Amino acid sequence: MNKFESVVNKAFDFQENRFSSIIPYFFSTPFYKRKLEEAGITQKHIRCLADLSKVPFTYKNEVRNSSPFERTPLKKEDIYAIFSSGGTSGNPTLYVWSEEDVVILKEVAKNIFFHFNVNPTDMALILAPLSLPVMGHCMIHQYEASGISFVPLGPADPETVTSFLQQLPITLIATLPVVASRLYEFIRYSQKAEINENIKIKQFHFGGDYLSNARRTRLQTNWNTNCYDLYGISEIFGPVAGECEFKNGLHFPDEYVYIEVLDPITKLPVPDGEQGVAVYTTLWRKGFPLLRYWSDDYITRDSHQCQCGQTSSRITYYGRPLDCVKIKDKTVFAKNVEEVVLKYPLNDEYFIKYENGYVYAEVEPMPEFLVLESEMKDELSELLHLPVEVTRKIPGTLPRTEIKPKRLIGFPQDL
Ligand SMILES: [Zn+2]
Repeated sequence: MNKFESVVNKAFDFQENRFSSIIPYFFSTPFYKRKLEEAGITQKHIRCLADLSKVPFTYKNEVRNSSPFERTPLKKEDIYAIFSSGGTSGNPTLYVWSEEDVVILKEVAKNIFFHFNVNPTDMALILAPLSLPVMGHCMIHQYEASGISFVPLGPADPETVTSFLQQLPITLIATLPVVASRLYEFIRYSQKAEINENIKIKQFHFGGDYLSNARRTRLQTNWNTNCYDLYGISEIFGPVAGECEFKNGLHFPDEYVYIEVLDPITKLPVPDGEQGVAVYTTLWRKGFPLLRYWSDDYITRDSHQCQCGQTSSRITYYGRPLDCVKIKDKTVFAKNVEEVVLKYPLNDEYFIKYENGYVYAEVEPMPEFLVLESEMKDELSELLHLPVEVTRKIPGTLPRTEIKPKRLIGFPQDL
C-alpha cells in the first residue's frame, strides 16, 4: 500500500465510522422513519456504507411536499434558524438548521478558502439575496470563517455595484458567473471605464451556476483577476466544494458528506470520470439530514490525489436536467455548448435555439467573428449532431435580465 492509498483508506474508515454512528439519527427523523418503515428497512439492515444501496432515494418532490419539522429530529429549542431553497419558482422549500450546521459549514469553507490566497486585508462584496434563501447567509459565514470583512449588498443593478466598487476597497466578489460578465460590459461600455483604474478585484468566487472554462478565461482576462469555482446546494450549504489553485475539479469534504455518482437510468455507480447524478448522504447531526438525496446535479468525480496534495475527491459540476439536451443518446450540457461559443469573438450573451431540425445560434458578433463563423458552425454541429445556422444580433440586444438564463431553447426531450 502506498502513502496515497493509506490516506484514502483512512478517510474511508472515517466515513464508515461517522456513518454507523449517524444511522440512529436518521431513524429519529419522522420523515425518514416513515420512509424506511414503508420500505421494510430497520436499523439492522443498515450497518455500513455498502448497505446504503438498499436504502430508497430521497427525491426533491418528497422534500418539497413535507413539512420542515418532519424532516428534522431536532427539538424546537435546538433549532438555529429556518432558511429556504433559492425559490426561483413556486413556494420555497424550508430547511431547519442546527448550530452544528454553521460550525461544519465554517470548517468546510475555511478549508476551501485556505487555498485561495486571501487574507484579512481583503474585503468581499456579496451579491446574493440575504433574506430567506440560505446561500447569501452561507457567504457571510464563509468570509467570517476566513477572517475576511464583507459588504452584504445583495442583488443589485450594475450601476449600484459599480458605485460600491469605486467607493470601497473591495477585492473579492461572490456572485454568479453571468453577473460578472454583465458587470464588465456595463463598466466597459456604459461607463467607458477601464477595470484597473479604481476597481481592483483580486478574485471572483463563483457559485449558483455552472462555470465554463471559456467564460472563466474571458472573465480572468477582462477583469485581470482570478476566478474560483465553488459548488453548493441549498439542501446542504455552500460552498460544499471548491477549487484549489490548480483548478482541476472542486475538492469535496468526504469526511462530512458521502457522495454516490449514479447513472440516471440504471441508478448504479458510474466509474470515476464518467458523468452521473450526485446522490448525497450527510454524516453529521445536520438540521435536515440527507439520506441518499437525489440532487439532480450532474457531476463527474476524480478520486486521484490532486497536485495540491489534498486527497479528497474532486467533483466537476455540469448542470441539471434543465441545462441539457439528449441528442442521439448523447447528453449535451449547456456548459459544453458554452465551451465552444465563448471561444469565439462574440459578446458573452448567446442563445442556442432548436427549430425544425436546425439549430440557430443567436450571437452578438464582434467584427473579427466574420472569418471564424463557419469554423464555429462546424464545431457546434459536431457537438450537437445537427446542422447549425448563425443568427447575428446587434451587440447589446439579446436579453440580459435572467441571472440563470436558459441557453438551450426549444429542444425536444429526445432527438
Ligand atoms: Zn487541489
